[in-house]
Amino acid sequence: MELHFILKVSFRASSDVTPASDMIGKYLEEANRTILVKGAAEGQGAQVVKWNVNDNKIELLIESGRYVRAHDALMRLRKPLAAKLGKEFRIGLRGIEVESFIITMPAEKPLKALKIPYVNSIEYENGTIKLYLDVGESEIENRVPDRILTLMEDKIQQQSYGGKAEHWQLLWQSEKREHKFSEDPTQAMLKAGWLKRGASRGQWIHGPQSTQMFRTFERIVLEELLEPLGYREMIFPKLIPWEVWQKSGHAKAVYPEIYYVCPPKTRDPEYWEEVSDYYKVTHEIPTALIKEKIGEPIGGMCYAQCPPFWIFLQGETIPTDEFPIKVFDRSGTSHRYESGGIHGMERVDEFHRIEIVWLGTKEQVLDCASELHEKYMYIFNDILELEWRKAWVTPWFMAQEGMTGVSAQSGAGTTDYEAFLPYRGEKGEWLEFQNVSVNGTKYPAGFNVKCQSGEELWSGCSGVGLERWSSAFFAQKGLDPANWPEGFTKRVGKLLKGIRFL
Ligand code: ATP
Ligand code: ZN
Ligand code: MG
Repeated sequence: MELHFILKVSFRASSDVTPASDMIGKYLEEANRTILVKGAAEGQGAQVVKWNVNDNKIELLIESGRYVRAHDALMRLRKPLAAKLGKEFRIGLRGIEVESFIITMPAEKPLKALKIPYVNSIEYENGTIKLYLDVGESEIENRVPDRILTLMEDKIQQQSYGGKAEHWQLLWQSEKREHKFSEDPTQAMLKAGWLKRGASRGQWIHGPQSTQMFRTFERIVLEELLEPLGYREMIFPKLIPWEVWQKSGHAKAVYPEIYYVCPPKTRDPEYWEEVSDYYKVTHEIPTALIKEKIGEPIGGMCYAQCPPFWIFLQGETIPTDEFPIKVFDRSGTSHRYESGGIHGMERVDEFHRIEIVWLGTKEQVLDCASELHEKYMYIFNDILELEWRKAWVTPWFMAQEGMTGVSAQSGAGTTDYEAFLPYRGEKGEWLEFQNVSVNGTKYPAGFNVKCQSGEELWSGCSGVGLERWSSAFFAQKGLDPANWPEGFTKRVGKLLKGIRFL
């Protein structure tokens, strides 16, 4: 069973169309041979299989396959028909009334119950899914049926993948190293008083010692990579409104991991007096009452770091000689609602990351990525002396839209950097501690950024996760400076004392 569309619809005219009946019949017959099959393979176009005039209505039954979809066929019919009716009969076409619209598509298994806008019901029978659409003129004009179809095809494909099997292909692997440490580094740091749990879920408070290590990692990135390669520091926003995620694509799938932000409905103290009085009397926070007094979520806290940067460039045309533009941000935390077992600091709800962003022509963007890979190679092999590897994975921008494959643009995609964690054992899962991504035209297109020369713009980004660097490094090297590589010890300098407790 191929994809099949059945659309029962009528054009509403300004007056009785009976006098135009012959003309309409001839027009539709011709359309079946011409405009409704144009661009489709033999036998694959749309056809008006039945028609009828009824007072001021022209009733049509249109069937089609994938190529000229029934609703596209309807649009192709409208203008020329309106012109003929106007010219020959002084009748106007007023609108479109959809009686029913059924799409049948192949699927091995039924899908679970779904709630999809403009879909009345979904039925499954012998290897096909039947969608009963509830659309009108404006939905057809706005291509809603096509979006429903794409969504359903994605779901059917995902179901046959059997969940979220992401792409993973080894690109490079370091030599094996001997590790003098085999504990969970977060537990070791806790014992040594380097950090403590924060009050919130998946959150840590880094004491002076842990912070000194983060700052050392940052300095390595600054001195060995960002400064020599000419990256300029910027400060990106950390509260992200929906508009940004609509343009970056995150609005398609990121909901389970967002920390949502809701503003108060008003900042009038009187409006809030009830809440503060309740607290003063009970010493309990009346969260249900607060929920009533705040507005709908305006967005969420920073998730991926680069999307809000693009508002800076949005709608601009940039002189050709500005490229490649190279910037980075390390101005604040990222927040993700991670699932279950957040034991250590390698997977936390609040984390610190240097986000490196670059854009230019495709060639420039690929060159920038190579430069970064080279510098990282030096840092991990010669300064931090890690056991690590690189893998070509599902691009982050696709993963965060719920897709699992590789990018369609050649050269675009994500390289994950992963480290061996001795405490998890030889067979244990390695830790992704950062990535380098070439994002293709996605961001310049999504935020409408242009190059003066008219050449296509590409961009890339790389996220250096400090919790992840720290987890990887201390998992392999432990907390005793005697076992740290010279390049690292030298940059740490004198170890800071922690805060003591009785
Ligand atoms: P994972 O598969 O481990 O969840 P991810 O694919 O979600 O990682 P990205 O979205 O690619 O990660 O984020 C880029 C970088 O941000 C990661 O390489 C990592 O350094 C850091 N990062 C992401 N999520 C977390 C987290 N929950 N805790 C700490 N660092 C994180
Ligand atoms: Zn990014
Ligand atoms: Mg993740």
